[in-house]
Amino acid sequence: MNMTNRKGRVYLVGAGPGRPDLITVRGLELLKCADCVIYDKLANPALLNYARSDAELLAVPKRVGSESFRQEQINNLLVQKAVEGKSVVRLKGGDPYIFGRGTEEAAVLAEAGINFEVVPGVTAALAASCYSGIALTDRAFASEVIFVTGHEAEGKQQTGIDWSLLAKFTGTIVFYMGMGNLEDITRRLIENGMSPETPSAVVADATLPTQKFVKATMATITDSCTKNKIMPPALVFIGPTAAGDSRLNWLAELPLFGKTVVVTRDAQGGAEFAEKIAGRMAVTIEIPVTKIKTLTDSGDFIKTLAQIHAYDWVIFTSRNGVETFFAALAKLSKDARVFGSAKIAAIGIRTAETLARFGIKADFVPSAFTSNDLARGLIEFTNLRGKKVLLMCSQIASDDLTQLLEAAGASVDNVPVYTHEKNLCDMKPLSERPIHWLTFASPFAATCFFEQVSVDFVKSKNAKVASIGPVTSKKLVELGVKVDIEASEHTFDGLLAAIEQHELRTTK
Ligand code: SAH
Repeated sequence: MNMTNRKGRVYLVGAGPGRPDLITVRGLELLKCADCVIYDKLANPALLNYARSDAELLAVPKRVGSESFRQEQINNLLVQKAVEGKSVVRLKGGDPYIFGRGTEEAAVLAEAGINFEVVPGVTAALAASCYSGIALTDRAFASEVIFVTGHEAEGKQQTGIDWSLLAKFTGTIVFYMGMGNLEDITRRLIENGMSPETPSAVVADATLPTQKFVKATMATITDSCTKNKIMPPALVFIGPTAAGDSRLNWLAELPLFGKTVVVTRDAQGGAEFAEKIAGRMAVTIEIPVTKIKTLTDSGDFIKTLAQIHAYDWVIFTSRNGVETFFAALAKLSKDARVFGSAKIAAIGIRTAETLARFGIKADFVPSAFTSNDLARGLIEFTNLRGKKVLLMCSQIASDDLTQLLEAAGASVDNVPVYTHEKNLCDMKPLSERPIHWLTFASPFAATCFFEQVSVDFVKSKNAKVASIGPVTSKKLVELGVKVDIEASEHTFDGLLAAIEQHELRTTK
Protein backbone atom coordinates (compact mmCIF):
# COMPACT_ATOMS: atom_id res chain seq x y z
CA MET A 1 0.00 0.00 0.00
CA ASN A 2 1.48 3.36 -0.89
CA MET A 3 1.13 6.54 1.13
CA THR A 4 -1.68 7.98 -0.97
CA ASN A 5 -3.86 4.95 -0.39
CA ARG A 6 -3.41 5.21 3.32
CA LYS A 7 -4.60 8.79 3.40
CA GLY A 8 -8.06 9.40 4.66
CA ARG A 9 -10.69 11.53 3.11
CA VAL A 10 -12.41 14.63 4.44
CA TYR A 11 -16.07 15.41 3.85
CA LEU A 12 -17.09 18.99 4.47
CA VAL A 13 -20.74 18.41 5.27
CA GLY A 14 -23.44 21.04 5.66
CA ALA A 15 -25.38 20.06 8.80
CA GLY A 16 -28.36 22.20 7.84
CA PRO A 17 -29.85 25.11 9.75
CA GLY A 18 -30.71 23.57 13.12
CA ARG A 19 -33.36 20.87 13.04
CA PRO A 20 -31.28 17.69 12.74
CA ASP A 21 -33.33 16.00 10.03
CA LEU A 22 -32.75 18.89 7.66
CA ILE A 23 -29.30 17.48 6.86
CA THR A 24 -29.08 15.95 3.36
CA VAL A 25 -29.31 12.18 2.82
CA ARG A 26 -25.72 12.21 1.51
CA GLY A 27 -24.53 14.10 4.57
CA LEU A 28 -26.23 11.66 6.93
CA GLU A 29 -24.84 8.61 5.14
CA LEU A 30 -21.31 9.96 5.43
CA LEU A 31 -21.85 10.87 9.07
CA LYS A 32 -22.97 7.31 9.84
CA CYS A 33 -19.74 5.88 8.42
CA ALA A 34 -17.19 8.45 9.63
CA ASP A 35 -14.20 7.47 11.77
CA CYS A 36 -13.96 11.01 13.07
CA VAL A 37 -16.49 13.85 13.29
CA ILE A 38 -15.28 17.42 13.77
CA TYR A 39 -18.23 19.65 14.48
CA ASP A 40 -19.17 23.30 14.93
CA LYS A 41 -21.29 24.92 17.58
CA LEU A 42 -24.07 25.52 15.04
CA ALA A 43 -24.37 21.88 13.96
CA ASN A 44 -27.12 20.31 16.05
CA PRO A 45 -25.48 17.94 18.58
CA ALA A 46 -28.40 15.52 18.10
CA LEU A 47 -26.77 14.64 14.77
CA LEU A 48 -23.88 13.06 16.66
CA ASN A 49 -26.24 10.26 17.72
CA TYR A 50 -25.99 9.02 14.14
CA ALA A 51 -22.21 8.67 14.30
CA ARG A 52 -20.74 5.23 14.93
CA SER A 53 -20.41 4.49 18.62
CA ASP A 54 -16.63 4.17 18.22
CA ALA A 55 -16.26 7.33 16.12
CA GLU A 56 -14.02 10.06 17.47
CA LEU A 57 -16.15 13.16 18.14
CA LEU A 58 -14.33 16.48 18.34
CA ALA A 59 -16.02 19.79 19.12
CA VAL A 60 -14.23 22.80 17.66
CA PRO A 61 -16.21 25.82 18.84
CA LYS A 62 -14.99 29.22 17.80
CA ARG A 63 -15.07 32.37 19.90
CA VAL A 64 -16.17 30.51 23.03
CA GLY A 65 -13.85 31.21 25.94
CA SER A 66 -10.74 29.19 26.56
CA GLU A 67 -12.04 26.23 24.59
CA SER A 68 -12.03 28.37 21.48
CA PHE A 69 -10.39 27.05 18.33
CA ARG A 70 -8.68 29.24 15.78
CA GLN A 71 -9.38 28.47 12.13
CA GLU A 72 -5.76 27.36 11.57
CA GLN A 73 -6.07 24.85 14.40
CA ILE A 74 -9.19 23.42 12.78
CA ASN A 75 -7.47 23.27 9.39
CA ASN A 76 -4.51 21.44 10.93
CA LEU A 77 -6.79 19.01 12.73
CA LEU A 78 -8.53 18.12 9.46
CA VAL A 79 -5.21 17.43 7.76
CA GLN A 80 -3.86 15.50 10.73
CA LYS A 81 -6.89 13.17 10.99
CA ALA A 82 -6.90 12.54 7.24
CA VAL A 83 -3.18 11.74 7.30
CA GLU A 84 -3.93 9.23 10.07
CA GLY A 85 -5.99 7.47 7.41
CA LYS A 86 -9.39 8.39 8.81
CA SER A 87 -12.62 9.13 7.08
CA VAL A 88 -13.40 12.56 8.53
CA VAL A 89 -16.74 14.34 8.50
CA ARG A 90 -16.35 18.03 9.11
CA LEU A 91 -19.86 19.01 10.15
CA LYS A 92 -20.61 22.68 9.62
CA GLY A 93 -23.82 24.60 10.39
CA GLY A 94 -26.01 25.38 7.38
CA ASP A 95 -24.05 25.19 4.15
CA PRO A 96 -20.26 24.83 4.34
CA TYR A 97 -19.59 27.62 1.85
CA ILE A 98 -22.10 30.25 3.04
CA PHE A 99 -20.25 32.41 5.56
CA GLY A 100 -18.77 29.20 6.84
CA ARG A 101 -15.07 29.40 5.94
CA GLY A 102 -15.54 26.08 4.16
CA THR A 103 -13.50 27.27 1.22
CA GLU A 104 -10.54 27.97 3.51
CA GLU A 105 -10.72 24.44 4.88
CA ALA A 106 -11.07 22.91 1.41
CA ALA A 107 -8.10 24.96 0.13
CA VAL A 108 -5.89 23.71 2.97
CA LEU A 109 -6.88 20.12 2.17
CA ALA A 110 -6.18 20.66 -1.53
CA GLU A 111 -2.75 22.09 -0.67
CA ALA A 112 -1.99 19.09 1.55
CA GLY A 113 -2.99 16.71 -1.24
CA ILE A 114 -5.88 15.26 0.75
CA ASN A 115 -8.98 13.98 -1.00
CA PHE A 116 -12.11 15.80 -0.03
CA GLU A 117 -15.76 16.18 -0.95
CA VAL A 118 -18.12 19.05 -0.12
CA VAL A 119 -21.73 18.22 0.71
CA PRO A 120 -24.07 21.22 0.52
CA GLY A 121 -26.44 22.00 3.36
CA VAL A 122 -29.64 23.98 3.77
CA THR A 123 -28.37 27.43 4.62
CA ALA A 124 -30.08 29.33 7.45
CA ALA A 125 -31.72 31.93 5.17
CA LEU A 126 -33.58 29.32 3.12
CA ALA A 127 -34.69 27.48 6.24
CA ALA A 128 -35.78 30.59 8.14
CA SER A 129 -37.74 31.67 5.10
CA CYS A 130 -39.74 28.42 4.88
CA TYR A 131 -40.23 28.24 8.65
CA SER A 132 -41.58 31.77 9.05
CA GLY A 133 -43.50 32.58 5.90
CA ILE A 134 -41.05 35.18 4.59
CA ALA A 135 -40.48 34.24 0.96
CA LEU A 136 -37.05 35.28 -0.24
CA THR A 137 -38.38 36.15 -3.70
CA ASP A 138 -41.85 37.05 -4.87
CA ARG A 139 -43.07 37.37 -8.45
CA ALA A 140 -44.89 40.58 -7.57
CA PHE A 141 -42.36 42.54 -5.54
CA ALA A 142 -39.00 40.90 -4.93
CA SER A 143 -37.02 39.73 -7.95
CA GLU A 144 -33.70 39.61 -6.20
CA VAL A 145 -32.25 38.30 -2.97
CA ILE A 146 -28.90 39.07 -1.43
CA PHE A 147 -27.04 37.46 1.50
CA VAL A 148 -24.85 39.86 3.43
CA THR A 149 -22.59 39.37 6.43
CA GLY A 150 -23.41 41.64 9.34
CA HIS A 151 -20.09 40.87 10.95
CA GLU A 152 -17.14 41.33 8.69
CA ALA A 153 -13.93 39.38 9.02
CA GLU A 154 -11.90 40.75 11.88
CA GLY A 155 -8.81 42.63 10.80
CA LYS A 156 -10.27 43.28 7.36
CA GLN A 157 -9.19 46.81 6.47
CA GLN A 158 -11.85 47.89 4.03
CA THR A 159 -15.49 47.13 4.28
CA GLY A 160 -16.69 44.83 1.54
CA ILE A 161 -20.22 46.16 1.83
CA ASP A 162 -21.33 48.99 -0.44
CA TRP A 163 -24.01 50.50 1.80
CA SER A 164 -25.22 53.00 -0.81
CA LEU A 165 -25.78 50.17 -3.28
CA LEU A 166 -27.44 48.02 -0.65
CA ALA A 167 -29.78 50.87 0.34
CA LYS A 168 -31.04 50.95 -3.27
CA PHE A 169 -31.63 47.20 -3.41
CA THR A 170 -35.31 46.48 -3.99
CA GLY A 171 -35.35 42.75 -3.30
CA THR A 172 -34.84 40.83 -0.04
CA ILE A 173 -31.69 41.53 1.96
CA VAL A 174 -30.68 38.84 4.44
CA PHE A 175 -28.02 39.62 7.02
CA TYR A 176 -26.19 36.71 8.63
CA MET A 177 -24.37 37.39 11.92
CA GLY A 178 -26.12 40.73 12.17
CA MET A 179 -27.49 40.74 15.71
CA GLY A 180 -24.46 42.38 17.34
CA ASN A 181 -24.57 45.21 14.79
CA LEU A 182 -28.27 45.50 14.13
CA GLU A 183 -28.54 49.11 15.15
CA ASP A 184 -25.54 50.00 13.01
CA ILE A 185 -26.87 48.07 10.01
CA THR A 186 -30.27 49.76 10.01
CA ARG A 187 -28.71 53.19 10.66
CA ARG A 188 -26.37 52.85 7.68
CA LEU A 189 -29.17 51.76 5.36
CA ILE A 190 -31.38 54.65 6.47
CA GLU A 191 -28.48 57.14 6.15
CA ASN A 192 -27.95 55.89 2.63
CA GLY A 193 -31.54 56.61 1.67
CA MET A 194 -33.54 53.46 2.44
CA SER A 195 -36.95 54.20 3.97
CA PRO A 196 -37.10 53.67 7.76
CA GLU A 197 -40.54 52.17 7.10
CA THR A 198 -39.04 49.28 5.08
CA PRO A 199 -40.44 45.99 6.41
CA SER A 200 -37.91 44.11 8.52
CA ALA A 201 -37.95 40.84 10.38
CA VAL A 202 -35.66 38.75 12.52
CA VAL A 203 -35.79 34.96 12.81
CA ALA A 204 -33.73 33.43 15.62
CA ASP A 205 -33.09 29.71 16.17
CA ALA A 206 -34.71 28.99 12.83
CA THR A 207 -36.20 25.48 12.45
CA LEU A 208 -35.78 24.70 16.16
CA PRO A 209 -38.56 24.44 18.77
CA THR A 210 -37.08 27.63 20.26
CA GLN A 211 -37.53 29.58 17.00
CA LYS A 212 -38.51 33.23 17.52
CA PHE A 213 -39.83 35.55 14.87
CA VAL A 214 -40.14 39.32 15.17
CA LYS A 215 -41.61 41.65 12.55
CA ALA A 216 -41.23 45.45 12.56
CA THR A 217 -40.02 48.30 10.38
CA MET A 218 -36.36 49.05 9.88
CA ALA A 219 -36.67 51.96 12.32
CA THR A 220 -38.12 49.79 15.09
CA ILE A 221 -36.62 46.33 14.56
CA THR A 222 -33.71 46.81 16.99
CA ASP A 223 -36.07 47.77 19.82
CA SER A 224 -38.42 44.91 19.00
CA CYS A 225 -35.52 42.49 19.22
CA THR A 226 -34.46 43.85 22.60
CA LYS A 227 -38.02 43.68 23.88
CA ASN A 228 -38.45 40.11 22.68
CA LYS A 229 -35.03 39.08 24.01
CA ILE A 230 -33.87 37.85 20.62
CA MET A 231 -30.49 36.15 20.84
CA PRO A 232 -28.18 34.86 18.13
CA PRO A 233 -28.08 32.85 15.97
CA ALA A 234 -30.52 35.01 14.09
CA LEU A 235 -31.05 36.36 10.61
CA VAL A 236 -32.24 39.82 9.69
CA PHE A 237 -34.56 40.17 6.70
CA ILE A 238 -35.03 43.60 5.14
CA GLY A 239 -37.20 44.43 2.15
CA PRO A 240 -40.81 44.14 1.01
CA THR A 241 -41.00 40.35 1.58
CA ALA A 242 -39.97 40.78 5.23
CA ALA A 243 -43.55 41.86 5.98
CA GLY A 244 -44.24 38.13 5.60
CA ASP A 245 -47.62 36.52 5.10
CA SER A 246 -49.03 35.26 8.38
CA ARG A 247 -51.06 32.63 6.50
CA LEU A 248 -47.75 30.99 5.56
CA ASN A 249 -46.51 30.74 9.13
CA TRP A 250 -47.43 27.07 9.45
CA LEU A 251 -45.01 26.56 12.31
CA ALA A 252 -46.98 28.82 14.65
CA GLU A 253 -50.03 26.61 13.97
CA LEU A 254 -48.43 23.41 15.26
CA PRO A 255 -50.13 22.62 18.58
CA LEU A 256 -46.91 21.79 20.39
CA PHE A 257 -44.65 24.42 18.82
CA GLY A 258 -42.62 26.21 21.48
CA LYS A 259 -44.06 24.16 24.35
CA THR A 260 -41.75 22.40 26.76
CA VAL A 261 -42.46 18.73 27.44
CA VAL A 262 -40.71 16.72 30.12
CA VAL A 263 -40.07 13.02 29.43
CA THR A 264 -39.51 10.89 32.52
CA ARG A 265 -38.71 7.52 30.94
CA ASP A 266 -35.48 5.57 31.09
CA ALA A 267 -32.75 7.06 28.94
CA GLN A 268 -33.13 4.68 26.00
CA GLY A 269 -36.90 4.76 25.61
CA GLY A 270 -36.97 8.43 26.55
CA ALA A 271 -34.65 9.39 23.71
CA GLU A 272 -37.03 7.88 21.21
CA PHE A 273 -40.07 9.62 22.68
CA ALA A 274 -38.11 12.87 22.93
CA GLU A 275 -37.26 12.63 19.25
CA LYS A 276 -40.94 12.31 18.39
CA ILE A 277 -41.80 15.33 20.52
CA ALA A 278 -39.00 17.34 18.94
CA GLY A 279 -40.45 16.37 15.55
CA ARG A 280 -43.63 18.21 16.65
CA MET A 281 -41.40 21.25 17.35
CA ALA A 282 -41.69 21.15 21.13
CA VAL A 283 -38.69 21.56 23.43
CA THR A 284 -38.04 18.32 25.26
CA ILE A 285 -36.38 17.87 28.60
CA GLU A 286 -35.36 14.32 29.32
CA ILE A 287 -35.35 13.35 32.99
CA PRO A 288 -34.73 9.59 33.00
CA VAL A 289 -36.01 8.80 36.49
CA THR A 290 -35.76 5.06 35.95
CA LYS A 291 -33.05 2.83 34.57
CA ILE A 292 -32.99 -0.73 33.40
CA LYS A 293 -31.36 -3.41 35.49
CA THR A 294 -30.83 -6.75 33.82
CA LEU A 295 -31.72 -9.90 35.72
CA THR A 296 -30.10 -12.30 33.31
CA ASP A 297 -27.20 -13.09 35.62
CA SER A 298 -29.53 -15.06 37.88
CA GLY A 299 -29.40 -18.83 38.10
CA ASP A 300 -33.08 -18.95 37.08
CA PHE A 301 -32.36 -17.34 33.79
CA ILE A 302 -29.42 -19.63 32.99
CA LYS A 303 -31.55 -22.70 33.82
CA THR A 304 -34.38 -21.42 31.66
CA LEU A 305 -32.02 -20.85 28.78
CA ALA A 306 -30.95 -24.49 28.82
CA GLN A 307 -34.64 -25.53 28.56
CA ILE A 308 -35.92 -22.90 26.23
CA HIS A 309 -36.21 -25.20 23.18
CA ALA A 310 -38.69 -27.33 25.14
CA TYR A 311 -41.32 -24.57 25.22
CA ASP A 312 -44.06 -24.34 22.60
CA TRP A 313 -44.21 -20.55 22.78
CA VAL A 314 -41.77 -17.90 24.00
CA ILE A 315 -43.37 -14.48 24.47
CA PHE A 316 -41.46 -11.20 24.51
CA THR A 317 -43.42 -8.27 25.90
CA SER A 318 -41.09 -5.36 25.21
CA ARG A 319 -38.11 -4.19 23.26
CA ASN A 320 -36.11 -3.98 26.48
CA GLY A 321 -36.85 -7.64 27.11
CA VAL A 322 -35.58 -8.64 23.67
CA GLU A 323 -32.45 -6.55 23.96
CA THR A 324 -31.62 -7.76 27.45
CA PHE A 325 -32.22 -11.36 26.42
CA PHE A 326 -29.93 -11.21 23.39
CA ALA A 327 -27.23 -9.31 25.27
CA ALA A 328 -27.23 -12.15 27.81
CA LEU A 329 -27.09 -14.75 25.02
CA ALA A 330 -24.13 -12.99 23.43
CA LYS A 331 -22.33 -12.95 26.78
CA LEU A 332 -22.75 -16.72 26.97
CA SER A 333 -21.51 -17.08 23.36
CA LYS A 334 -24.90 -18.38 22.28
CA ASP A 335 -27.32 -17.24 19.59
CA ALA A 336 -30.92 -17.56 18.45
CA ARG A 337 -30.55 -21.32 17.90
CA VAL A 338 -31.31 -21.78 21.62
CA PHE A 339 -35.00 -21.44 20.70
CA GLY A 340 -34.96 -24.68 18.71
CA SER A 341 -38.44 -25.06 17.25
CA ALA A 342 -40.21 -22.95 19.91
CA LYS A 343 -42.57 -20.40 18.38
CA ILE A 344 -42.12 -16.77 19.27
CA ALA A 345 -44.70 -14.05 19.96
CA ALA A 346 -44.10 -10.33 20.43
CA ILE A 347 -46.25 -7.63 21.97
CA GLY A 348 -46.05 -4.54 19.82
CA ILE A 349 -44.42 -3.70 16.52
CA ARG A 350 -41.34 -2.34 18.33
CA THR A 351 -40.75 -5.66 20.06
CA ALA A 352 -41.18 -7.51 16.75
CA GLU A 353 -38.78 -5.13 14.99
CA THR A 354 -36.19 -5.64 17.68
CA LEU A 355 -36.52 -9.42 17.33
CA ALA A 356 -36.05 -9.01 13.59
CA ARG A 357 -32.78 -7.20 14.26
CA PHE A 358 -31.58 -10.43 15.85
CA GLY A 359 -32.72 -12.47 12.87
CA ILE A 360 -36.06 -13.64 14.28
CA LYS A 361 -39.38 -13.22 12.57
CA ALA A 362 -42.05 -13.40 15.25
CA ASP A 363 -44.67 -16.09 14.60
CA PHE A 364 -47.37 -13.96 16.17
CA VAL A 365 -47.74 -10.21 16.76
CA PRO A 366 -51.16 -9.05 17.99
CA SER A 367 -52.72 -6.17 16.10
CA ALA A 368 -53.26 -4.19 19.31
CA PHE A 369 -50.67 -3.53 21.93
CA THR A 370 -51.57 -4.61 25.44
CA SER A 371 -50.91 -7.90 27.23
CA ASN A 372 -54.63 -8.67 27.14
CA ASP A 373 -54.71 -8.22 23.38
CA LEU A 374 -51.78 -10.58 23.03
CA ALA A 375 -53.40 -13.19 25.22
CA ARG A 376 -56.75 -12.96 23.43
CA GLY A 377 -55.11 -12.89 20.01
CA LEU A 378 -52.84 -15.83 20.75
CA ILE A 379 -55.72 -17.87 22.12
CA GLU A 380 -57.63 -17.28 18.88
CA PHE A 381 -54.53 -17.94 16.78
CA THR A 382 -53.63 -21.28 18.30
CA ASN A 383 -54.90 -23.84 20.76
CA LEU A 384 -52.91 -23.34 23.96
CA ARG A 385 -54.37 -26.27 25.87
CA GLY A 386 -51.50 -28.27 27.38
CA LYS A 387 -48.89 -26.00 25.76
CA LYS A 388 -45.78 -24.79 27.56
CA VAL A 389 -45.40 -21.03 27.41
CA LEU A 390 -42.43 -18.95 28.56
CA LEU A 391 -42.88 -15.25 29.31
CA MET A 392 -39.80 -13.06 29.07
CA CYS A 393 -40.80 -9.80 30.65
CA SER A 394 -40.08 -7.12 33.17
CA GLN A 395 -40.19 -7.96 36.85
CA ILE A 396 -42.72 -5.21 37.43
CA ALA A 397 -45.10 -6.40 34.71
CA SER A 398 -48.60 -7.30 35.87
CA ASP A 399 -49.78 -10.91 36.14
CA ASP A 400 -52.71 -10.43 33.75
CA LEU A 401 -51.03 -12.12 30.84
CA THR A 402 -50.04 -15.18 32.86
CA GLN A 403 -53.57 -15.54 34.23
CA LEU A 404 -55.24 -15.24 30.83
CA LEU A 405 -52.93 -17.78 29.23
CA GLU A 406 -53.37 -20.20 32.12
CA ALA A 407 -57.13 -19.83 31.82
CA ALA A 408 -56.75 -20.99 28.20
CA GLY A 409 -55.06 -24.17 29.43
CA ALA A 410 -51.39 -23.26 28.97
CA SER A 411 -48.73 -23.91 31.59
CA VAL A 412 -46.88 -20.63 31.95
CA ASP A 413 -43.40 -19.90 33.29
CA ASN A 414 -42.71 -16.26 33.96
CA VAL A 415 -39.01 -15.37 33.88
CA PRO A 416 -38.24 -11.69 34.40
CA VAL A 417 -35.23 -10.64 32.34
CA TYR A 418 -35.02 -7.07 33.55
CA THR A 419 -36.46 -4.65 35.98
CA HIS A 420 -36.57 -0.89 36.35
CA GLU A 421 -34.89 0.87 39.21
CA LYS A 422 -34.79 4.45 40.38
CA ASN A 423 -32.26 6.70 38.69
CA LEU A 424 -31.11 9.82 40.53
CA CYS A 425 -31.41 12.74 38.13
CA ASP A 426 -30.23 16.27 37.83
CA MET A 427 -33.47 18.24 38.17
CA LYS A 428 -31.95 21.64 37.39
CA PRO A 429 -33.28 21.71 33.82
CA LEU A 430 -36.81 21.86 35.28
CA SER A 431 -36.09 25.23 36.85
CA GLU A 432 -34.44 26.76 33.82
CA ARG A 433 -37.50 27.39 31.67
CA PRO A 434 -41.29 27.29 31.74
CA ILE A 435 -42.61 23.73 31.72
CA HIS A 436 -45.87 23.06 29.87
CA TRP A 437 -46.19 19.29 30.16
CA LEU A 438 -44.92 16.50 32.36
CA THR A 439 -45.39 13.04 30.86
CA PHE A 440 -45.54 9.74 32.70
CA ALA A 441 -45.53 6.35 31.03
CA SER A 442 -45.57 4.06 34.06
CA PRO A 443 -46.57 4.17 37.72
CA PHE A 444 -42.98 3.43 38.64
CA ALA A 445 -41.69 6.46 36.71
CA ALA A 446 -44.28 8.59 38.54
CA THR A 447 -43.09 7.28 41.93
CA CYS A 448 -39.41 7.82 41.09
CA PHE A 449 -40.06 11.32 39.77
CA PHE A 450 -42.00 12.50 42.81
CA GLU A 451 -39.39 11.04 45.13
CA GLN A 452 -37.07 13.62 43.63
CA VAL A 453 -39.38 16.56 42.91
CA SER A 454 -42.17 17.91 45.10
CA VAL A 455 -45.77 18.09 43.95
CA ASP A 456 -45.75 21.75 45.00
CA PHE A 457 -42.89 22.47 42.63
CA VAL A 458 -44.91 21.07 39.73
CA LYS A 459 -47.89 23.18 40.81
CA SER A 460 -45.71 26.29 41.02
CA LYS A 461 -44.60 25.73 37.41
CA ASN A 462 -48.21 25.48 36.24
CA ALA A 463 -47.20 22.36 34.34
CA LYS A 464 -49.91 20.03 33.05
CA VAL A 465 -49.60 16.33 33.73
CA ALA A 466 -50.16 13.69 31.02
CA SER A 467 -50.47 10.00 31.83
CA ILE A 468 -50.21 7.07 29.42
CA GLY A 469 -53.09 5.12 30.96
CA PRO A 470 -55.28 4.34 33.97
CA VAL A 471 -52.68 2.46 36.04
CA THR A 472 -50.23 5.35 35.80
CA SER A 473 -52.98 7.90 36.48
CA LYS A 474 -54.05 6.02 39.59
CA LYS A 475 -50.51 6.15 40.97
CA LEU A 476 -50.23 9.87 40.17
CA VAL A 477 -53.47 10.58 42.04
CA GLU A 478 -52.16 8.57 45.01
CA LEU A 479 -49.09 10.78 44.97
CA GLY A 480 -51.33 13.85 45.19
CA VAL A 481 -50.89 14.90 41.57
CA LYS A 482 -53.69 16.24 39.42
CA VAL A 483 -53.78 14.36 36.11
CA ASP A 484 -54.81 16.72 33.32
CA ILE A 485 -55.05 14.16 30.55
CA GLU A 486 -54.87 10.41 30.09
CA ALA A 487 -54.07 8.83 26.73
CA SER A 488 -56.86 6.70 25.31
CA GLU A 489 -54.36 4.63 23.35
CA HIS A 490 -51.75 3.52 25.87
CA THR A 491 -48.65 4.10 23.76
CA PHE A 492 -46.28 7.01 23.33
CA ASP A 493 -48.01 7.98 20.12
CA GLY A 494 -51.29 7.91 22.02
CA LEU A 495 -49.82 10.09 24.76
CA LEU A 496 -48.51 12.58 22.23
CA ALA A 497 -51.82 12.67 20.38
CA ALA A 498 -53.69 13.33 23.63
CA ILE A 499 -51.40 16.26 24.45
CA GLU A 500 -51.80 17.69 20.96
CA GLN A 501 -55.58 17.42 21.13
CA HIS A 502 -55.60 19.12 24.49
CA GLU A 503 -53.49 21.99 23.14
CA LEU A 504 -55.74 22.35 20.09
CA ARG A 505 -58.84 22.41 22.30
CA THR A 506 -57.45 25.00 24.66
CA THR A 507 -55.77 27.35 22.18
CA LYS A 508 -58.29 27.39 19.33
N1 SAH B 1 -22.92 28.32 7.17
C1 SAH B 1 -24.05 28.80 7.89
C2 SAH B 1 -23.87 30.22 8.35
C3 SAH B 1 -22.76 30.42 9.32
S1 SAH B 1 -22.61 32.08 9.85
C4 SAH B 1 -25.29 28.66 7.02
O1 SAH B 1 -25.18 28.36 5.85
O2 SAH B 1 -26.41 28.85 7.54
C5 SAH B 1 -23.53 32.07 11.34
C6 SAH B 1 -24.79 32.84 11.17
O3 SAH B 1 -25.77 32.07 10.48
C7 SAH B 1 -25.48 33.20 12.46
O4 SAH B 1 -24.90 34.36 13.05
C8 SAH B 1 -26.89 33.48 12.00
O5 SAH B 1 -26.99 34.73 11.39
C9 SAH B 1 -27.05 32.42 10.92
N2 SAH B 1 -27.70 31.22 11.41
C10 SAH B 1 -27.21 29.98 11.48
N3 SAH B 1 -28.11 29.12 11.96
C11 SAH B 1 -29.22 29.84 12.21
C12 SAH B 1 -30.50 29.55 12.72
N4 SAH B 1 -30.86 28.30 13.07
N5 SAH B 1 -31.39 30.54 12.85
C13 SAH B 1 -31.09 31.80 12.50
N6 SAH B 1 -29.89 32.14 12.01
C14 SAH B 1 -28.97 31.19 11.86
